[in-house]
Amino acid sequence: MNAEIITSGTELLLGEIVDTNSTYIARALRDVGVNLYYKTSVGDNVERMALVLRQALERSDLIITTGGLGPTVDDVTRDAVALATGRELVLYPECLAAIEAIFARWGRQLGENNRRQAYLPAGAIPIMNPVGTAPGFIVETEHATIIALPGVPREMEHLMQTAVLPYLRERLGAGRVVIKAKHLRTVGLGESWIDERIDAQMRSANPTVGLAAHYGIVDIRITARAETEAEADAMIADMEAQVRRAIGDDGIFGVDGDKLEEVTACLLARAGVRLALVESATGGEIARLLRSTPEGAAVLTAAHVVDGPASLAALLHMSPAKLEAFGWVSEMAAAEAAALLIDTYEGGWGLAVLGDVAVREDVYGQETGQTFVALATPSATVIRRYPYAGSGFLARQWVSMRTLDLLRRQALTQSNVPKTG
Ligand code: ATP
Ligand code: MG
Repeated sequence: MNAEIITSGTELLLGEIVDTNSTYIARALRDVGVNLYYKTSVGDNVERMALVLRQALERSDLIITTGGLGPTVDDVTRDAVALATGRELVLYPECLAAIEAIFARWGRQLGENNRRQAYLPAGAIPIMNPVGTAPGFIVETEHATIIALPGVPREMEHLMQTAVLPYLRERLGAGRVVIKAKHLRTVGLGESWIDERIDAQMRSANPTVGLAAHYGIVDIRITARAETEAEADAMIADMEAQVRRAIGDDGIFGVDGDKLEEVTACLLARAGVRLALVESATGGEIARLLRSTPEGAAVLTAAHVVDGPASLAALLHMSPAKLEAFGWVSEMAAAEAAALLIDTYEGGWGLAVLGDVAVREDVYGQETGQTFVALATPSATVIRRYPYAGSGFLARQWVSMRTLDLLRRQALTQSNVPKTG
């Protein structure tokens, strides 16, 4: 069964709201094994909506629409489906009764426009909506099935779960296919490095393995197609083991919705770490990420932002002459700052992330700048140099993720931290 989604609403085209409905429906279809081929958004215009529906009827088995079921003139889905399928709109007394009951409960008078919501294309199967006024509906034509759902996400999700998915499962019957996905989240490995290691796995047809990179983090997505969920899970587990063997466990910080800052904060908390940090070009981003979880907020003893050698020298009583001689963005400055943070805050770990606040362009127009990260613990100091800096979004993300990873890996070396992942 091949499907497409049509979301309607002029506000989607104006960029005023994000189309979360189609994402939700796409996942639900994936989970029941329906292939999704197209997603379209269209404004509140009956002709254009009908045009998109006609096109969909020619190429898809299943069409799910959201929005445009309300009582006002800009709610055009009922009319558009009627137009596209050559049907009349007819009154559905059971829908009218349901709408009347809602208005009675609210103690309000039912207006003529609300009666419009009880008119559906002839032959439609109504989907009663206990969480809103607009009923959804299913129209089965000889070519395809159209399922119209309300635009309000809460209502759409409720009808998907209680009516649409049971309907689809029954239609798919014995030939039912389950598609499941799992994401392994990696940091600090590099997309092409991973790509080379799991070349064989990436050629597999089922499960499929794909990569998605986002600023220092690369997700490995494993998607399996099977007859049962248990079978899909087993296929994913086998592929996951292969991938882990190929790239090692160290770079994998979590799965699916895990966030690096959360994983790192929990590991630091479990290791009983107290952390003081100073950062320049990242502008407080690393502290912000750590503070976004209760564990991270509890781990931090101090977080400073400095914008140049003068404020760094003043903050940690460093010698301005020495900073000038070595450069305040240098290995020496980072190592000394990290050590001084431990002294200043009496123990714990000190982290200095010193990057050029402004980046320069070289003769080729490439941005140049660098960041030195020093992490001092009572037993050792680890120093990293990254070839990016500046306060731009990209550089900030890269440096922040790599620094969190450094903290994560260091926390994992603490004997009181159980190794999981
Ligand atoms: P209503 O009875 O509220 O008019 P409706 O079925 O006519 O419902 P719309 O008017 O199209 O639906 O949308 C109602 C609200 O639902 C929108 O203002 C928007 O906030 C939200 N919404 C609509 N479509 C989407 C979408 N694709 N993704 C996320 N939210 C949406
Ligand atoms: Mg509406």
